[in-house]
Amino acid sequence: MSKPFLSVERLTQQFPDGQGGTLTVFENATFGVDQGEFVCILGHSGCGKSTIMNILAGLAEPTSGVVKMDAVEVSGPSLDRGVVFQNYSLLPWLSALKNVTFGVKARYPNWSKDKVEALARDFLAKVGLDGDVVHRKPSQLSGGMRQRVSIARAFANHPKLLLLDEPFGALDALTRGTIQDELLKIWGGTEQTVFMITHDIDEAILLADRILLMTNGPFARVAESVEINIPRPRNRTEIVEDPNYYAIRNHLVQFLGKRSKELAGEKIEQDDVRPETVRFDASGTSETTEEQTESSPLLRAVNT
Ligand code: ADP
Ligand code: MG
Repeated sequence: MSKPFLSVERLTQQFPDGQGGTLTVFENATFGVDQGEFVCILGHSGCGKSTIMNILAGLAEPTSGVVKMDAVEVSGPSLDRGVVFQNYSLLPWLSALKNVTFGVKARYPNWSKDKVEALARDFLAKVGLDGDVVHRKPSQLSGGMRQRVSIARAFANHPKLLLLDEPFGALDALTRGTIQDELLKIWGGTEQTVFMITHDIDEAILLADRILLMTNGPFARVAESVEINIPRPRNRTEIVEDPNYYAIRNHLVQFLGKRSKELAGEKIEQDDVRPETVRFDASGTSETTEEQTESSPLLRAVNT
């Protein structure tokens, strides 16, 4: 079996707990992401999602464990990885357009000014920003508009991997829905791989090919990988008619509401760090499989 595009192996993060001891936020977090996949990670606040994302971005180093992208170890930030933070993080002194061209120029240093600007405008238009609004500074834009600029900026650089940390958390439901649709449209036209943190179950089902579920910390881990085999294109009104929709949704609600706590701190065998794959078939039952690896092609059926 070939290695996934992104491979995360036994990531462990410890921080000083402020009282002379050590806080182990997560331990042995292990998962892979395939090229072109859209993966969401769900887990309660504090389990270490943002920390994992910062490590994937190369902005932080884990206490132990390895992240490889395209078989190369991640050891610092790279233009191959685009990040959208929860708090927009635009450069406040630059216009929306310049916030996007700034990155494109870095990515394509030999391009003419016109070509850079055309690409930036194209991506801003894809997220619904055109006309004079692109000359406004972040302080003159609404939260939704700022988040659109962040997404345009990340995609315009054509990173191989897009890392999104609760990108829609601060938006009202209507704006969130619109931007989710735009994100799906842009992603659908590329080979890009997306890793997105969210705490919104419905958002994760709408967007993801696969949802990783984290147990609560301390000693959090990635316990399950739930396959979202609902056909695309998806939209929020029709998705509920898919025969698997409610089974998937209930499973996620149960996990976050109950099992994430029950499993917290559970000691697992060192050989057992991979998440269990959960797949639903049309009858609404789930099948749980040990994630396929060279060492464990084991198959196990479980009734829930
Ligand atoms: P999440 O994104 O899942 O809400 P975080 O990754 O932000 O969680 O944080 C996980 C835990 O690690 C929290 O308890 C947080 O307080 C702690 N933490 C995060 N960064 C640091 C740091 N630089 N120093 C100490 N503790 C940290
Ligand atoms: Mg976070």
